[in-house]
Amino acid sequence: MKRREFIKKTGASGLLAGSLISAAPAVHAGTKIKWKMVTTWPKNFPGLGTGANNLARLITEMSGGRLRVKVYGAKELVPAFEVFDAVSRGTAQMGHGAAYYWKGKVPAAQFFAAVPFGMNAQEMNAWLYYGGGEKLWQDLYQSFNIIPTAAGNTGVQMGGWFNKEINSVTDLKGLKMRIPGLGAEVLKRAGGTPVSLPGGEIYTSLQSGAIDATEWVGPYNDLAFGLYKAAKYYYYPGWHEPGSVLEALINKKAYAELPSDLQSIVMNACKIVNADMLAEYTARNNTALHTLVSKHKVQLRPFPDDVLKKLAQLSEVVVKEVAAKDKHAQKIYQSFYNFREQAMAWGKISEQAFLRAREL
Ligand code: CA
Repeated sequence: MKRREFIKKTGASGLLAGSLISAAPAVHAGTKIKWKMVTTWPKNFPGLGTGANNLARLITEMSGGRLRVKVYGAKELVPAFEVFDAVSRGTAQMGHGAAYYWKGKVPAAQFFAAVPFGMNAQEMNAWLYYGGGEKLWQDLYQSFNIIPTAAGNTGVQMGGWFNKEINSVTDLKGLKMRIPGLGAEVLKRAGGTPVSLPGGEIYTSLQSGAIDATEWVGPYNDLAFGLYKAAKYYYYPGWHEPGSVLEALINKKAYAELPSDLQSIVMNACKIVNADMLAEYTARNNTALHTLVSKHKVQLRPFPDDVLKKLAQLSEVVVKEVAAKDKHAQKIYQSFYNFREQAMAWGKISEQAFLRAREL
């Protein structure tokens, strides 16, 4: 089978690969609008950076070129951790990143990226779209002139890369590890030293020994960064990121100036990318894990149960502290955990029961 045919038949290059507009002239006449999208990812980074590219392309194509979005990688226009401010100020009309990167400014934002032992991708989407989560998120960013929405999900991440085995909680003591969000605070309570680094700086930091361990995403992305060359043990599961939501940030003023059809295109393109990215991660993690283990001889290890139990206890404390910071955080926390409780009850007799049945 020729490559092009193969891609066509299997959809190997992803849902968004095919051009959605034909060669026909643009149906919609009118003003052409240009937007900038700043991102926290290295330009074109697999999954995350390409997800941002897909989002920009979809908006441009679905609008027949009336709204053109240009993507900037981290540091091209602003550094990774200044994406939020750039969109807030209107330096860029859009951003793509993850909400836990803004924890210094908006601690409750972390609920909308990843909560340790929180909810998986399917449950997060359910909460955001049908459980009131998205409304709480938008209220939280209101005063920053930003509209946030989900635009991607990695699924359950991996626990990370370590130079030594983790056999008990004491092995975490003194460990200098790159880990974002609430998971960072949990590691700190377990005696470790969390380090905040954007993706693009992880490999060299691990290689040079500036950090002892790191988490990043999962097999697909970790293979792309070559993390297996800098650490030997690859731990699972990603207790700290059970279904990380990637975030589209939209400048509120720029959005308000769009005609309603373009507004709809922007929001729906985010929804498409949200679903597409999870499918891509699921598919590519499968093959990348195989490559890591069989080709690069990575040592795959589960965290011991007592380590996970301890981390879960510490997580509960940490999350409650964030919730206690202000009224809005408390409201988000309540909503999140009420939803999680219901999701767990249903999950037990649906996904969990099925996964168990499949293994019998
Ligand atoms: Ca991660």
